[in-house]
Amino acid sequence: MEKVEQWLKKVFINGEWVDTVKGETFDTFRPTTGEVLCAVANGDADDVDKAVTAAKACLNSSGWGYASTGVQRAVVLRKLGKLFEENTAVIAKIDSIDMGKPMREAEADVGDAVAACNHFADLAEKQDKEQGEKIDVGDDNFQSEVRYEPIGVIGAITPWNYPFLMAVWKVIPAIAAGCCTVLKPSELAPCSCLLLAQMCHDAGVPPGGINVINGLGLTAGAAISNHPAFDKVAFTGSPATARLVMAAAALGPRAVSMELGGKSPLIICQDTSNLDAALDWVLTGFLWGSGQVCSATSRVYVHEALREVFMEKLITRVKAVTICDTQGEEALKDTEGAVPRMGPLVSRIQCDKVWGYIDGALSAGVTCAYGGRRELLDGLDINPNGYYVPPTIFVDPPADAKVYKEEIFGPVLCVRFFKTEEEAVAMANDTVYGLAAAVFSDDEAKCSAICNKLRAGIVWLNNCQPAFIQCPWGGVKQSGFGRELGRWGIEEFSSVKQVTSAKPGYAWGIF
Ligand code: NAD
Repeated sequence: MEKVEQWLKKVFINGEWVDTVKGETFDTFRPTTGEVLCAVANGDADDVDKAVTAAKACLNSSGWGYASTGVQRAVVLRKLGKLFEENTAVIAKIDSIDMGKPMREAEADVGDAVAACNHFADLAEKQDKEQGEKIDVGDDNFQSEVRYEPIGVIGAITPWNYPFLMAVWKVIPAIAAGCCTVLKPSELAPCSCLLLAQMCHDAGVPPGGINVINGLGLTAGAAISNHPAFDKVAFTGSPATARLVMAAAALGPRAVSMELGGKSPLIICQDTSNLDAALDWVLTGFLWGSGQVCSATSRVYVHEALREVFMEKLITRVKAVTICDTQGEEALKDTEGAVPRMGPLVSRIQCDKVWGYIDGALSAGVTCAYGGRRELLDGLDINPNGYYVPPTIFVDPPADAKVYKEEIFGPVLCVRFFKTEEEAVAMANDTVYGLAAAVFSDDEAKCSAICNKLRAGIVWLNNCQPAFIQCPWGGVKQSGFGRELGRWGIEEFSSVKQVTSAKPGYAWGIF
């Protein structure tokens, strides 16, 4: 944390660390102990206003924004990628302390952030080559072409589950497209984005190109959604907040992209011969980030014939997961995943919310095959005030059980069984969400057929959870719209201009 200490009570506007207009702060807490971690600048509408003014000026400056090329921006992005790489341990440690994720997961996030810089640098260069692409309009009197321009000033609002990476997924493609950004990180894990601001600056993003305003959702976040000077609001978070952000953006109206929640299913067909490999993916899906992942596997559908063997193996594997203080000596050393580790949840509120789902399901009589009891934490080498929840598995929950229907965002899994694949698909699709889904079968044609029937933005066949930088990321239904990553990621921040010319002097002569 030493690395960001000097900036904690500041906001980053126009290339400088400055005090907020009101000078207020809010506290963040250590997930492993529940103690106050630090006081952070509590920016609000006044600071957002200053930031958006700086961003607008940068967008219209002679050296950046509309006036820059993809090649120029790619140089900055590659430098930034190197800075991320050199600072991997520092960034990862900050996210691990602030959000509670194990170091190996936090380091993997930084690896993905490095990949994002290099990938979007390539795409920025490619966009230069696509400038002026001709369109045949079928009329020799006219010549049409397209030009790509930055959409403008971006308001980026991000969640706490991947504090650094979710910000990178917006800021980096925005830079690649030539946009200038005002970023508001989540107040629950706000520290690593301070380093992001400084590193963008050090890599050559000019003053105003990136601005970071820490603050609360209802003040700094709402100020971004409401400010008329933003050209687009790129939001990642819960559907409840998304409704407020979209309602505010509708008044513009201005563009929004929405990366929201999920209740992602995973189907295991009878012909899955390597059940251990499938279980590996189930555990990754359900316990990575302590289940605080938008695409987390929260519903598993297993063929009835595999019921006993699957449950036995699942419980054995889950029992072997060490619930640990992610800041403990062993956990900090283990960045290779030698021991399967799971840390705390991000906050007291999130922890109580997850326990609320578990307690509610237990009192409604839903069968709990593992976890679900606070006593499972007794005797572990963890602080009793930390925000811990043991992995918890419910079996055969009724279709209307809250634990089965709602996004929990914790290490809670529901398992149901099916006799036919049609039944599995119907259960998998019976949700308001549609972010991700996974299918396991030895039969590739069957995987593909089931994939076609799943209503989700991402489908993994015989694997689960990888988020490759080259591939589109985003959901359908209430999981949102718009796509991050890959060429779709830069398109979200690019505006397509039609330019149609006629020879001087040519006229239609109609009027
Ligand atoms: P959240 O909606 O509570 O907060 C997200 C951000 O919105 C935070 O920065 C918060 O301060 C801000 N905010 C809160 N109220 C606001 C308001 N009125 N106006 C503007 N901004 C406001 O979500 P969270 O708890 O931080 O994150 C968890 C959610 O994010 C889950 O639903 C998860 O599935 C989703 N998520 C989705 C993806 C994806 O790629 N689809 C990735 C990560 C997280």
